[in-house]
Amino acid sequence: MSRKVQAIRGMNDILPGQSSIWLYLEKTVAEVVHGYGYQQIRFPIVESTDLFKRGVGETTDIVEKEMYTFDDRNGESLTLRPEGTASCVRAADQAGLLYNQVQRLWYTGPMFRYERPQKGRYRQFHQIGVESFGISTPDIDAELIILSARLWKKLGLLEHVELQLNTIGVAAARESFKLALVEYLSEYKEKLDADSQRRLTTNPLRILDSKDEGTQSVLQNAPSLEEFIDEESRLHFERLKSILIDNGVPFTINPSLVRGLDYYGKTVFEWVTTHLGAQATVCAGGRYDGLVEQLGGRSTPGVGFAMGIERLVLLLEVLNLIPEVAKEKIDVFLVSVGETAELASFKLAEQLKDTNDQWAVLRHCGGGSFKSQMKKSDKSGARFTLILGEDELVKGICQIKDMSTGEQIECSLDSVANYLSQQFSN
Ligand code: ATP
Ligand code: MG
Repeated sequence: MSRKVQAIRGMNDILPGQSSIWLYLEKTVAEVVHGYGYQQIRFPIVESTDLFKRGVGETTDIVEKEMYTFDDRNGESLTLRPEGTASCVRAADQAGLLYNQVQRLWYTGPMFRYERPQKGRYRQFHQIGVESFGISTPDIDAELIILSARLWKKLGLLEHVELQLNTIGVAAARESFKLALVEYLSEYKEKLDADSQRRLTTNPLRILDSKDEGTQSVLQNAPSLEEFIDEESRLHFERLKSILIDNGVPFTINPSLVRGLDYYGKTVFEWVTTHLGAQATVCAGGRYDGLVEQLGGRSTPGVGFAMGIERLVLLLEVLNLIPEVAKEKIDVFLVSVGETAELASFKLAEQLKDTNDQWAVLRHCGGGSFKSQMKKSDKSGARFTLILGEDELVKGICQIKDMSTGEQIECSLDSVANYLSQQFSN
């Protein structure tokens, strides 16, 4: 036997059983976002490297060390998308959908980051992103957050996640804060962790969310971002908070929440949970009014968020929140012995699907003895087994076995669909 090829480290297969949870989650999200008037957009998995360098930011973790970048056969530098916002802006702007227009968009699909694989952190992972363009007022920030809260409610997760909010001001405010922060931190440089020391020159804001204890103790007396927030951002934030309060969406202000991507300004937020260990954030987003222009488009405000599907699936599993209907159960299993009965069982299966195309009807294929077919029906978890043999055909009937009680009845072929309809509506 030749050696088997393995999947790439950090890139997972989603196997049957698991995939039903994914379908359930994706379907639920699609329903909720549709309910707020958002439309799906699809864009390629590969883009020019330049898009992410300019969109995400040269000094972010993503661009510095996490991208899958390669030259194609023409020598053009391409990158597997590490996130969706930059691509979404690129696609929408290229199609002329942004300038002077309001758009409510969402997308879903794989993202790629070269990170250390662990629970809740993979190299190919999946996000669902929701973005809105053309509205600069805080009501749309609130809409997105209220929408996400409704999603958690629908999934049974609302009491297991917490909303953290912050405002990081406009670019000028962040610049003044950065100067003050760097000046203060430079005095204690040797007490900072290595990453934070490096970030003093590259991305000082990120030092705020360092997990290092030494760094955190130095930060205790550092100037706070809050003191530097401009009036416009402050008012924006106040309005957002009052809309959330009015709608009964609780939040916590987290002054050190800054987000890892360069494009954010004003509102930033994360939904976090205590059930997933270190990979606590299931959904994150914020406002990015400068991004469209930064990518060469005409100035257009934007705000959005992305959620990590793997982390949400883990959360649903940990909390045992996967509803029975999501489990893709088989309703009816058809067993037939002999060639004539096989033909009849095809007819019967199609007749059942004509009656109700929501029924999952599994016909046994591949022949075999009655006993071995019954074993397969048992294993399938079907609620009913329909049995067709030569004897039954002669009488124009089939046997219907209720797999939960073991009871078996005879039913004329014409009335099987009726009988099952009644049983399933009970
Ligand atoms: P983290 O702080 O966990 O690295 P992030 O700030 O890099 O997250 P974003 O870029 O904001 O994450 O992505 C939004 C969401 O996508 C995250 O909140 C998380 O749920 C999910 N996510 C991000 N990176 C990964 C990954 N490598 N594997 C699985 N999910 C991820
Ligand atoms: Mg990250």
